[in-house]
Amino acid sequence: MNTVGILGGGQLARMMALAGASLGLRFLVMDTARDACAGQFAPMVVGDYVDPAALAEFASRIDVATFDFENVPAQSAQWLVDRIPVFPNPRALGTAQDRLAEKTLFRELGIPVPDFAVADTREQLDEAIARVGMPCILKTRRLGYDGKGQFRLRTPADADAAWDALGGQAAKVGLILEGFVGFQRELSVVAVRGRDGEFRTWPLTENWHVDGVLSASLAPASADKELAERAFAYARKLADALDYVGVFALELFCRDGELLANELAPRVHNSGHWTIEGAETSQFENHLRAVLGLPLGDTRMLGHACMLNWIGQMPDPTPVLTEASGHWHDYGKTARDGRKVGHATLRADSAVELAEALARVGSRLQREAQVAPVIERLAE
Ligand code: ATP
Ligand code: MG
Ligand code: MG
Repeated sequence: MNTVGILGGGQLARMMALAGASLGLRFLVMDTARDACAGQFAPMVVGDYVDPAALAEFASRIDVATFDFENVPAQSAQWLVDRIPVFPNPRALGTAQDRLAEKTLFRELGIPVPDFAVADTREQLDEAIARVGMPCILKTRRLGYDGKGQFRLRTPADADAAWDALGGQAAKVGLILEGFVGFQRELSVVAVRGRDGEFRTWPLTENWHVDGVLSASLAPASADKELAERAFAYARKLADALDYVGVFALELFCRDGELLANELAPRVHNSGHWTIEGAETSQFENHLRAVLGLPLGDTRMLGHACMLNWIGQMPDPTPVLTEASGHWHDYGKTARDGRKVGHATLRADSAVELAEALARVGSRLQREAQVAPVIERLAE
């Protein structure tokens, strides 16, 4: 029997362990927090990712290692590679950990990106503003997630405020200035690549963010075939270039028919949670299949699916559970402002039925604002 080691014990590791149970897999999770939510389903090693003793214990008990978050220090990933198989490889992880390296690679591969420039000093920030123009967005290069470590600039006069907000982190994590994209839609490609290079994608997904945090995802995104093929081709180019093994997501902005790459998430992704009930094979199962060198599962979906994120605290499950194709996911976390604590997926055979189910759930949970943009899209 194979034991899969997962660095990071959040909800992604938890859902991976749940998906792997039916494949007969065992799991070992490593996390710095004793109460990490994946620990409710898998044995844990509690320790710092750079602690050699904790890493050694972890490595001695697993057959293969993977990640539930992208910020595992590169040297820890490398330490593991010298001892056991690790997927995705540390180069892919390292590239995705740094917005500058990531955007540079996108550009090298001919994948369009928003304008960007390094802004590690106050002077560089002024130069970057002159190059990128307004409006723009200053981001930490490393360690940002859920829109944290970002500052939006509307006029050059905002430069001081932006530097006050993020300049203190420049020495440690680096800063990048990006053009602010007035997109009509945000899309993601969730894709999987096997050890043998086989590549598959789930249908294109549209995403809505609130305050930088994913709020809702809809699949399939309404997109003409050419646009979807272009998005898939970008994802494939990236996966091949990085010799990527496992599931990843490529986040894209769609502006006037143009696709601009925002970031690469080197792991299973929140915008792919709908695949648990909405697709023939979920992203979690296919990630495990890829990492273990098993045949990849079919990624087709039936009908339409919408995922709603629960942030801060869990709502009443009843309205979702009473829907014919309503599915509930409670991550077993304690409530905390801004924290992803669970999600729901609604599935339906037609767009009209999905919109109706969303309207019922939105109204019963008093979350009309969360479902409104999805319902609007489904009506187009
Ligand atoms: P994640 O949780 O997806 O890893 P993150 O902290 O890495 O988030 P981004 O994906 O860069 O952050 O940004 C979060 C959201 O902020 C985006 O999904 C988008 O809605 C908005 N955003 C980020 N960069 C830009 C940009 N250059 N132009 C317009 N909107 C942007
Ligand atoms: Mg990110
Ligand atoms: Mg993102």
